[in-house]
Amino acid sequence: MIAKVVEEMFSQRKGGYLIPAEIVANVSETNNLNHALLVLTKVKYAKIPVLDKEQRVTGLLSLAMITETMLGLNGIDPSRLNRMTVKEIMQTDFPKIQAPYDIEEILHLLVDQPFLAVVDQAGVFLGIITRREIMKEVNYFAHDLEKQYLIEPKAGYLEETKNTGTKVNLVVPTRRSSSAKVRR
Ligand code: AMP
Repeated sequence: MIAKVVEEMFSQRKGGYLIPAEIVANVSETNNLNHALLVLTKVKYAKIPVLDKEQRVTGLLSLAMITETMLGLNGIDPSRLNRMTVKEIMQTDFPKIQAPYDIEEILHLLVDQPFLAVVDQAGVFLGIITRREIMKEVNYFAHDLEKQYLIEPKAGYLEETKNTGTKVNLVVPTRRSSSAKVRR
């Protein structure tokens, strides 16, 4: 469980963190790799979502996947790109988040992924959540925490850390706690 106060801070962002599908670069499963190479080169993103004809996210495609496909025994063979489709080489093992999404799950998954695809109940692509958007919020959070909350070390924990010599962590009282000293 993440701290309630962290969850609360994250939920303050109006409109959430979603970059809507309309402005997310993507390719279709049935596109040939020549087309996909052009798209990836133009948009300059390392990896983008792949959609099927029902607008569901079925994979992710990167420039590296395409260049690897071009590599043959005798060096680079670009002629393969016209003969192969995105579906044949895309990454199909990737996490998807279903809206309404949970910030705790997102924080966990973004440790290993640069972005997460968000889908509705039917699997239709709604957009992405990127590390950058979350890092912007963490930055805001780091600067604004003390403006919104009174932060005090927990007495017991302070003693414990003094004895063991470990660094003191600060504990933020929440509004829900009866003994909380919160000013917002
Ligand atoms: P960022 O955290 O902004 O660096 O984005 C992380 C990754 O998300 C990028 O490397 C891309 O793979 C992907 N991404 C971000 N924005 C877009 C977009 N508008 N269209 C497609 N992919 C994107």
